[in-house]
Amino acid sequence: MDHELLDAAIIGGGPAGLSAALVLGRARKRVAVIDEGRPRNAVTRETHGFLTRDGVSPGEFRRLAKEQLEAYPSVTFVADAVVSVAGEDGRFQVATAQGATVVSRKLLFAVGMKDRPLDIPGLADVYGKSAFVCPYCDGWELRDESLVVINRGHELMHFAPLISGWTKRFAVCANGPDELTDAQREELRRHGVPVHESPIRSIDSSDGIVRQVVLEDGTAIPCRGIFFKPELTTGSDLPRAIGCEVTEAGTVVVDGFGKTTVPGVYSAGDAASRMHQAIAAASAGSMAAAAMNNELNLEAWSRNG
Ligand SMILES: Cc1cc2nc3c(=O)[nH]c(=O)nc-3n(C[C@H](O)[C@H](O)[C@H](O)COP(=O)(O)OP(=O)(O)OC[C@H]3O[C@@H](n4cnc5c(N)ncnc54)[C@H](O)[C@@H]3O)c2cc1C
Repeated sequence: MDHELLDAAIIGGGPAGLSAALVLGRARKRVAVIDEGRPRNAVTRETHGFLTRDGVSPGEFRRLAKEQLEAYPSVTFVADAVVSVAGEDGRFQVATAQGATVVSRKLLFAVGMKDRPLDIPGLADVYGKSAFVCPYCDGWELRDESLVVINRGHELMHFAPLISGWTKRFAVCANGPDELTDAQREELRRHGVPVHESPIRSIDSSDGIVRQVVLEDGTAIPCRGIFFKPELTTGSDLPRAIGCEVTEAGTVVVDGFGKTTVPGVYSAGDAASRMHQAIAAASAGSMAAAAMNNELNLEAWSRNG
């Protein structure tokens, strides 16, 4: 069966993929956005820090984006999971779980990242409601509150000064050995930051709002919020499957315009960055789309000349 050759298949319909679709749609390119609709931030109620959209829910953000994309008829949406990608620059085949096939000249992976399962009892109940990962996203709402920071080692020594910009009232739970040097422990002590190494027994909460963190040694730490370091994994194995270089952290290796190590294949947003913010993802999607559009125009120019 013959399929229409589109200009681009965008896999992932979060801020990165939708922003790329807007740029490509306005550039009159035929684009399919294929999205299974399972973003990492689905647990949260509000997205902050996106100029003009501060505080909207992730679902409302996507709804508004799709509404505005309706103005561009060359952009279509497929609500499905991509299960395989094959082919090469100029002709990629994208297959979905429900049996659809999309054929396109270029590919953009905007597949985000995923959390590994949360193994601390009670953390899943509060994640996105009073337990967060990024103070730029959710620090303002918890300013001056009593917090528990779940972290250890050199990451903790980066995070402690950072979170102190929002509140000075926080205790650290390393949930095991703190992996600190004596000098680092002394530094935290000077700043009045208690460090607990006893494993976390439970996080007590009601309606998603944490009340206290209870440790195996019986210590109960009352608090109003938690910041923790998530364990992340790549949002999809497809970039690796088609040959893209991927870092140990699971992000796709790209240049400044989202170009991967495979010709014709781009990646943008959380999937290709350590900076996980909606506005940064949208910006990267926009940059990648402009680079894809440039390649597409140059190719059409030489085909037709
Ligand atoms: C709890 C939490 C709170 C956050 N709060 C904020 C905040 O307040 N402000 C802020 O700026 N940022 C916040 N972030 C970060 C922000 O959500 C991300 O940086 C942003 O969503 C990344 O956009 P993206 O388009 O790269 O990926 P995503 O938004 O994750 O979208 C990726 C999409 O690709 C889809 N996908 C993956 N694989 C496939 C496949 N094989 N086939 C089809 N579709 C696929 C996924 O289902 C998903 O819909 C938060 C994150 C979390 C986890």
